[in-house]
Order: sequence, then C-alpha cells, then structure tokens
Amino acid sequence: IVQLAPFFQTYRKQRYPWVQLAGHQGNFKAGEEQGTILKKLCGEEDVCLQQLRSDALRPYVPEYRGQILGDDCEQYLVLQDLLAGFTNPCVMDCKIGVRTYLEEELAKAKEKGKLRKDMYEKMCQIDPSAPSEEEHRAKGISKPRYMVWRETMSSTATLGFRIEGIKKSDGSSSQDFKMTKTKEKILEVFTFFLEGYPQAASKYLQRLRDISATLEVSEFFQSHELIGSSLLFVHDAQDAKIWLIDFAKTFPVPDGMKINHRDAWMVGNHEDGYLIGLESLIQVFTELFQA
Ligand code: ATP
Ligand code: MG
Ligand code: MG
Repeated sequence: IVQLAPFFQTYRKQRYPWVQLAGHQGNFKAGEEQGTILKKLCGEEDVCLQQLRSDALRPYVPEYRGQILGDDCEQYLVLQDLLAGFTNPCVMDCKIGVRTYLEEELAKAKEKGKLRKDMYEKMCQIDPSAPSEEEHRAKGISKPRYMVWRETMSSTATLGFRIEGIKKSDGSSSQDFKMTKTKEKILEVFTFFLEGYPQAASKYLQRLRDISATLEVSEFFQSHELIGSSLLFVHDAQDAKIWLIDFAKTFPVPDGMKINHRDAWMVGNHEDGYLIGLESLIQVFTELFQA
C-alpha cells in the first residue's frame, strides 16, 4: 500500500497532509520553499519540464524551478505543489494514453522470449480464461503478451485513460482501479469523486476543453510521445483544476516521424492515444455535467 500522506506541507499558514496517488513513496519530499515539492530526478523529465516552460502548455503544467540536491545526496526536481492553495481538496490521478509502456520496453521484453510463470499466474488470478490453451499447458506466458494484455484489463486500451488513484476530502482513498474498465464503471467512480461538489463537473469540463485547445497549438505536444503521463484533478468547494504531470516517459518522436495522438497504436508507429483519452474524459464529464 502506498502511503498517501508522506509528509505535511504548509502554504499561507495552512498545514495539510500532502497526497501522493502513484509512484514510489520515497520519490517525493516537501520542498524548502512554500508551495513546492521535490520529485526525485529523472533526466528525461527534467528536459521535458524545461521545454514546457516556454510552451503553450505552460499554464497546465506544474511550474518547474530547476534541480536541487536533497539532504539525502539525491538530486530532485523542484515543482509547484499543485495542492497548495486548495482547502482540503479531492484529488484524482488519471493516466492518459492507450498504453503505459514504451515501444522500447516492449521490444526489450520480446528479446528475452522466456516464458514467465509469475505473469501467467497473475493473469490466471485476474482472468482464468485469458491464457490460451497453449499458455495453460506451458503454465507460462511471454512478458510482451502480458504487457499488452494488462492494458485491456483497465480502461487504458479502450478509453485511452485509466484511474490511478483517488483521494477524497474526508481522507478516504483508493488506488484499486486496475480493473475499472467500462464507461459505466468510470462514470460511477467519477460520480463518487464529485459527490458533494456540484460545481466541480462544469469547471473540470471547461478545463479539459482548454487543455484540448492548447494541445492543438502546443509544439511540445506535436513533437513528443507521452507515455505514462497523467492528468491530475484537484477540487475543493471553491475551485476545480487539472494539470498535466509526470513526464518521465515522454520522449521526442523519432526523427522524420509524425504522430497525431489519435490513430490506433501499432508497434512501430509510436502513437500514444493521448487525444483518445482526453476525448473520453470530455465525454464522461459532459455526461456528468448534464446529469
Ligand atoms: P508513476 O510513474 O508510478 O506514475 P512517479 O514517481 O513518476 O509515479 P508522478 O506520477 O509524477 O510520480 O506523481 C505521483 C503522484 O504524486 C501523483 O499521482 C500525484 O498524486 C502526486 N503529484 C505529483 N506531482 C505533483 C505536483 N506537482 N503537485 C501535487 N501533487 C503531485
Ligand atoms: Mg505518474
Ligand atoms: Mg512516472
């Protein structure tokens, strides 16, 4: 279980437990300056955050203040704490895209070619009918097969996003959405997330539309493949906002290639399905808003 409040933050005299909905517990620390947090350095993410400082997407990305050496002698990124300024907020992390691994990671998994008993067992636990007869006989599956299959268990492969975690203002939280797949289930979870905040759905919807319009003109977005990146939803009684976070697996599209973030992914075309996910989210929030 990931600890949701790894440390406390203070902002404008408000003290609040910081919320971490994904990633390793040790990856984040309180920032020295108010309104900042520290995320363990990933060189690729540093490069992206630097470029995003002068991109149209800047208002929708946590402000990046550069690197700092932590007292544990590890290098950290200094980021705007997106929870600062909210009072007792509800928080949700949705991972965007039709796959959450890099093509390179899939290729590496293919090289090994060894059958994995552990992955076969995990697959059986979740869905005993998923392995083929041959896989049942071998009591093993290949890792690439497992990687592709796993994305079909959640809404990732079909809707282009999945819920990673939710924390409500009463402190209740869950990261148990790995099997949340259908639009109906997603609607249920989002309804639960918005419960008690009648104004949030329309604000989120507007913010999603603003992000969508900005992605269209963003040079960064046109030139990058975004894998495992999330939209972070934060609302309280006053406000509701969404930001793009987590660029640890965001890479420039290979030279000479172009992606539109919408075409079906096929090995080699580098499509990430980012806009498929965003459009699904807009659809779901439109339904919620009209409800
Ligand atoms: P993973 O790759 O497993 O998703 P990670 O280590 O790359 O994890 P992030 O996804 O960047 O980390 O962040 C993990 C969680 O930390 C998010 O789900 C969110 O709850 C919180 N978080 C990250 N960045 C910020 C921020 N700038 N402000 C507030 N909360 C943040
Ligand atoms: Mg993440
Ligand atoms: Mg990450």
